[in-house]
Amino acid sequence: MNQVGGIEKYGFQALVPLETAIAKYFPHFSALGFEDVLLEQALNRILGEDVIAPINLPPFARSAMDGFAIFAKDSFGASPSKPKLLDIAGEIAIGNVPQHELNEGQAMEIATGAPLPRGADAVIRVEDTKVEGSRVKIFQAIPPQRNVILEGEDVTAGSLILHKGEEIRPDHIGLLRSLGIQKLKLAKQPRLVLLATGDELILPGKPLAPGKIYDSNNLMNSALLSRYGAVVVTQELLPDDPAIIRQEVLTGSNNMDVVVCSGGTSVGKKDFLPQVLQELGEIVIHGIAQKPGSPILLGKVGGKPVICLPGFPVANFISIITILGPLLRYLQGALKRDPRPIVFGRIAKNVSVKGLGRINYLRVNLQETDTGYVIVPKKLSGSGILRSLVESDGLVEIPADVEGLEEGEIVKVFLHLR
Ligand code: AMP
Ligand code: MG
Repeated sequence: MNQVGGIEKYGFQALVPLETAIAKYFPHFSALGFEDVLLEQALNRILGEDVIAPINLPPFARSAMDGFAIFAKDSFGASPSKPKLLDIAGEIAIGNVPQHELNEGQAMEIATGAPLPRGADAVIRVEDTKVEGSRVKIFQAIPPQRNVILEGEDVTAGSLILHKGEEIRPDHIGLLRSLGIQKLKLAKQPRLVLLATGDELILPGKPLAPGKIYDSNNLMNSALLSRYGAVVVTQELLPDDPAIIRQEVLTGSNNMDVVVCSGGTSVGKKDFLPQVLQELGEIVIHGIAQKPGSPILLGKVGGKPVICLPGFPVANFISIITILGPLLRYLQGALKRDPRPIVFGRIAKNVSVKGLGRINYLRVNLQETDTGYVIVPKKLSGSGILRSLVESDGLVEIPADVEGLEEGEIVKVFLHLR
């Protein structure tokens, strides 16, 4: 117990910088491994290997227009007043292959996407031609390769198209599908248990008794964590009872990849998480120099990460963005650990910082103007004020050694994942 008290005191007297905490904590764990997944289930997951194109794309030279496949040089000198006349040597419908090759002086009718006949090196648009019986008039001169998409022009067989660690997007799926790829080797998704602790917490559906509040962290965290590739297997509400918490953390660490607790991480009488972690395993970090979210606890039980987020909902949300989310991406071998989009803009007014010595996360709104974004700080910024988060578009990170922001200064905004 004394030892626990020591850690708490130490932790809060010397909050660990975020970067240091990450550098110290993440290497305790390694990536979870890989599994084969059908492309249908691959969206937003992390690639476990480089992907090499198995075929050329397009797989054959094809027409980009409806028109006539010709020898470009047969059109040389053609104009609306002096058209060239070519023999029609057949038709290539989409999905079919040309029956024979094209000779000089001939044209073959061709649909958009249909393969070019051997010999032909250009396609003249149907708008620049006129059919007369078995012949076609060409009203324009075109250079070789006009309206032709060459074999392998999009992707060459053997080329690297996606890197290990990339997140699969809808356009990736289109490309992979067009290459005929059915399965991918993807990173295994971390399986999580969420344990919300607090004697005051009840589940919606029950009337709100005096002194009680509805648990919001479990369901919010589950929603946000899914954006980081986590699979939340179970969620539980636990009382502030060290024996019960100990049992659930132990079960979770035996059965899951990551245990996530909320509440009870600080130095209050009912804050049992530091003690429980100390008893079951080890505390790696207690207290990070960030606001909100400083009384966070990063531990390890049975070789598994156990992360205890401070109870305030905004602190939960921000700690997921700064630490837990990136850890989950790290466990999946993601190249990019923070998936949030970034924009830049000018801050609308001066902002002064209260908690110097910590990274301050300023909730802001974006105002779109003709010359870029104006960034408007929100007034409500307490860590319990969930509305301030809901009404904001993103966060500006004010570094620990910066006292504030000056009106007009260009700032970087990390947009919320929504
Ligand atoms: P704690 O970190 O346990 O000291 O809790 C800090 C504050 O967050 C208290 O006001 C709690 O009531 C609140 N809180 C803790 N857990 C939750 C939760 N799961 N949902 C909503 N609020 C919570
Ligand atoms: Mg509590």
